[in-house]
Amino acid sequence: MALIVQKYGGTSVGSPERIAAVADRVIKWRQQGHDVVVVVSAMSGETNRLVALINAINPRGSEREKDVILATGEQVTIGLLALALEQKGQAARSYTGAQVRILTDNAHSKARIIAIDDAPMRRDLAEGKVVVVAGFQGVTEEGSVTTLGRGGSDTTGVALAVALKADECQIYTDVDGVYTTDPRIESRATHIPRLTLEEMLEMASQGSKVLQIRSVEFAYKYDMPIRVLSSFDDENGKSTLVTREDEVMEQVLVRGIAFNRDEAQLTIRGVPDRPGIAYSILGPISDTNIEVDMIVQNVGSDGSTDFTFTVHKNDYDKAFGILNNLAAQLGAKECKGDEKIAKVSIVGAGMRSHAGVASKMFAALGKEGINIRMISTSEIKVAVVIDEKYLELAVRVLHEAFGLAG
Ligand code: ADP
Ligand code: ASP
Ligand code: MG
Repeated sequence: MALIVQKYGGTSVGSPERIAAVADRVIKWRQQGHDVVVVVSAMSGETNRLVALINAINPRGSEREKDVILATGEQVTIGLLALALEQKGQAARSYTGAQVRILTDNAHSKARIIAIDDAPMRRDLAEGKVVVVAGFQGVTEEGSVTTLGRGGSDTTGVALAVALKADECQIYTDVDGVYTTDPRIESRATHIPRLTLEEMLEMASQGSKVLQIRSVEFAYKYDMPIRVLSSFDDENGKSTLVTREDEVMEQVLVRGIAFNRDEAQLTIRGVPDRPGIAYSILGPISDTNIEVDMIVQNVGSDGSTDFTFTVHKNDYDKAFGILNNLAAQLGAKECKGDEKIAKVSIVGAGMRSHAGVASKMFAALGKEGINIRMISTSEIKVAVVIDEKYLELAVRVLHEAFGLAG
């Protein structure tokens, strides 16, 4: 007998029929003798609908109140799933994040989980009940509702699995596992049966939205295996196990290709090339809580240098404003920005022990006439910024170049 945490995403609970199918699957696990805790997202499209409502009323309003609204989607699905289970003869009990007490910090819309009280869930499990918990939400010490960032139900799932010391965290979604790249972009993407938590962490941080990055951070930190599988078609037995490295894992150079259209590029030209200049530019940016991703500083000449960096598109206007003010103060030549960029990354633990991976990537892109604007590397990743219009081509070209196609 095992304790399993299962998380079902928006499309998996997108209609009454889908919710009934989830209930059937949960009951199947119960009948095999397992304890089951289920985390659910809002029905597909619901969180977007709530965001649109907020934007129609007061887009610049208080983050606390926005979270009150955003958290309602999941409250509906926990109740519906508990009712579906009850109707099928399986005792169940639903909890919102606040009720089960998923304690978070007060960073509304991107709150971090601090602690989880596992006592009520354990009590229910001991009574043979299925526990159904709302994903994507928590509560602060003062009792305010918080949300964990888009895609945050994955994080609720893994955090509950860690708190309950579950055997596995199963993420049920609309694909039967993690693929070499997003199968919606490259139809020849191939299924990956196993990959390391470290590789998944890098894939997620480079933009693969199949798992929210924080969920993988949690799993990595506490060594919790994640299994990604389809809630639509689990008869084929396919899934992806994301776990620590083991002998069963196939050794490959590049495991997958991730991409991200969410960033924008900013450049400040002709700033004085002197100690402290990077801080004078990036300090004011980070003081306003804008996260900077890639950074490039050109080699200086004539005592001046150019500085380029990327931020999330949502922060672009704000960052541009700050940069313009700085340009005046620092006597810079000009500020430029571009929102039509994309980042493509190749990821694989095999890179650690092999040279030449980056140059193979650059050659493949060069051959297609795709210009590289910025580059950043880590031990198991090479990421490049390119024009957004070439993104899909770049993904396909790299997929082919590294032999990932099926
Ligand atoms: P859910 O609503 O279940 O949380 P998501 O839409 O958040 O589902 O995540 C599943 C989607 O992630 C897939 O439909 C797929 O388009 C996308 N995706 C992106 N990269 C990958 C990848 N490397 N492998 C599989 N799916 C990916
Ligand atoms: N419902 C939330 C969202 O759409 C959380 C989630 O689905 O994981 O982002
Ligand atoms: Mg998701």
